[in-house]
Amino acid sequence: MSLAERDAAVLWHPYTQMQTAPLPIPVVRGEGAWLIAEDGRRYLDAVASWWVNLHGHAHPYIAGRVSEQLRTLEHVMFAGFTHPAAVELAEGLLRVLPDNQRRVFYSDNGATSIEVGIKMALQYFHNRGQAQRRTLVAFRDSYHGDTFGAMSVSARSAFTAPFAPLLFDVQFIDVPVPGREAEVLAQLEAVLTTHDVAAFIFEPLVLGTAGMVMYEPDALDTLISCCHEHGVLCIADEVMTGFGRTGQLFAADYLQTQPDIICLSKGLTGGTMALGATTCTAAIYEAFLSDDRTRTFFHGHSYTANPVACTAGLASLELLLAPESAADRARVEARHAAFAAELRGQSGIAEVRQRGTILAVEFRVAEGTSYFSRLRDEFYALSLERGVLLRPLGNIVYVLPPYCITDAELRQVYDTLLAMRELVLRPAQAAAPADLPEYPHD
Ligand SMILES: *Cc1c(COP(=O)(O)O)cnc(C)c1O
Repeated sequence: MSLAERDAAVLWHPYTQMQTAPLPIPVVRGEGAWLIAEDGRRYLDAVASWWVNLHGHAHPYIAGRVSEQLRTLEHVMFAGFTHPAAVELAEGLLRVLPDNQRRVFYSDNGATSIEVGIKMALQYFHNRGQAQRRTLVAFRDSYHGDTFGAMSVSARSAFTAPFAPLLFDVQFIDVPVPGREAEVLAQLEAVLTTHDVAAFIFEPLVLGTAGMVMYEPDALDTLISCCHEHGVLCIADEVMTGFGRTGQLFAADYLQTQPDIICLSKGLTGGTMALGATTCTAAIYEAFLSDDRTRTFFHGHSYTANPVACTAGLASLELLLAPESAADRARVEARHAAFAAELRGQSGIAEVRQRGTILAVEFRVAEGTSYFSRLRDEFYALSLERGVLLRPLGNIVYVLPPYCITDAELRQVYDTLLAMRELVLRPAQAAAPADLPEYPHD
């Protein structure tokens, strides 16, 4: 039996309809921006393996540091104990995060970093005797993860439908895309004046799963300021945008007004292993300090601050802050900008969006037709045939590569996008049965 067949006999994959999904591609090695399959085929990882990889696969520096840490201290519980990697990573993060961030709370992944952020905000008001403040505000199209709290503040969709009655109530506002800023500010003001709002949670500047929907820093600054005027906390979900993705180290670096809580994961370890972190201001931290033990933040995970994960985080942060990585990010951003300029206005292209190292191409297709629903699968098949890993979100195809991707490799990705345009321009074909809706963060 092949590895893929053995997989099919025992495994259950994320966001995968196991009855109809093709066998998974067995990957046995990674190197730079490349994934190498069991059969020797190579795939250029243009989506950084679900947005986590920063410096390339199996990076020798991170691998060396991690294996050294494994031989020194693999794990220790994090209540009553600490260790060098946890302290150094927290110090390193606070050095590069916005000034107002003063404390780091570790967890295990993006969704748990969101749970921690939500619970911090709610208990902040509880501890201050304002427990009635418990409404959360979020963007209607957001994605914050798959645990219950994170699902509650995420877009209501086919994927949350089975759990809808169990999700807590959230006030949703629209994304302030260019031209809609004033309207969305009015929506926020209406919510803030009619509800006891604890916090506003948002993906800053780029909503990933929504289809790399982008909006301007000014618009977010206005919303954050409005929240602060009403005493409402702001939670920036930088799980995807953090660690250089948007051009600055953090999307918050584009802002004048800083969020109170920041959630991090994905690039935190450079894509090496699962780790989450939630950071907050001194004011939030201080609301939990008391002689009264019930004000404690009673939250933790068995693997909180795992030393191996923290070491991967430290090694990745060192690479990220090196001038070579900054130069790579600037280069990828410039190449994206040049290609975006080349694409804009071409037939078959509805819109091209870019922020830093993220490029999103929205193809123009007749929506609602079976042709439309089939296109995602055709795009995906076409990219794999060409040895490029791209995961279209419907008719939106984005490029979010490891920063080490070379110019020649980027050209290969861009050529694949041009080939997709040819597919779109091809005359429409016979109808096929409608497919499932698109998968979030897929
Ligand atoms: C991926 C993602 C999450 C969830 O992170 P997981 O590690 O998959 O739980 C949360 N927020 C954003 C913006 C994300 O992109």
